[in-house]
Amino acid sequence: MNADWPLDHQGMWCEIVAPAAGAAPRPALFLDRDGIIVDEVEYLCEVEKVALCPGVARMIAGANRAGIAVVVVTNQSGIARGLYGWPAFAAVQDEIARRLEAQGARWDAVMASPFHPQGREPWRHPDHPVRKPNPGMLLASVEALAIDLAASWIIGDRATDMAAGRRAGLAGGIFVGQGYDAGEAERALAEATGGFAVLRARDTAEACSSLPLLCGLPCDAA
Ligand SMILES: [Mg+2]
Repeated sequence: MNADWPLDHQGMWCEIVAPAAGAAPRPALFLDRDGIIVDEVEYLCEVEKVALCPGVARMIAGANRAGIAVVVVTNQSGIARGLYGWPAFAAVQDEIARRLEAQGARWDAVMASPFHPQGREPWRHPDHPVRKPNPGMLLASVEALAIDLAASWIIGDRATDMAAGRRAGLAGGIFVGQGYDAGEAERALAEATGGFAVLRARDTAEACSSLPLLCGLPCDAA
């Protein structure tokens, strides 16, 4: 492990950019990264391939203004698979953050899980608690950001994103159905149980436009 990176005791990337100013619980917007914030690129590890999804910067800026915590929660199995390391991940993150900032948007925290069942050591794990569909990445940000999970939402393009939201006790998730097979949508919608809502959007822009109402954002946010 490299001391330059914000890794927690488990080896998860746990970067709190803007700790909560007060103790009053507030909603959070949990965002999957690949396919939601940036265009899906298999094992994204090159800054040249970073492309922001339309609408996402405006929506994040709206959440910023409304005091809603924005938390990136991303499975990065490319690390366990030996395809890239934290330096490449950090470079991609810096590029995404720079582009968001240019549009007045910033995230409050980033959680990234390097684990995978077929990965190499030390990231090989059959079912790591901080790898989606498990809720560990979401739960890890609650204290530092004073998050009210029951008032929070997740946006993702995999059923595992919805599962992580449900298991964390969120209000609901928006499943963005693009790029994966029909079974993915079926599995995502099946996570709508026990009071957890799953909505569906065509793309990030459509998900962003339905979010203000759900999170109590001002209507000009989308
Ligand atoms: Mg994704």
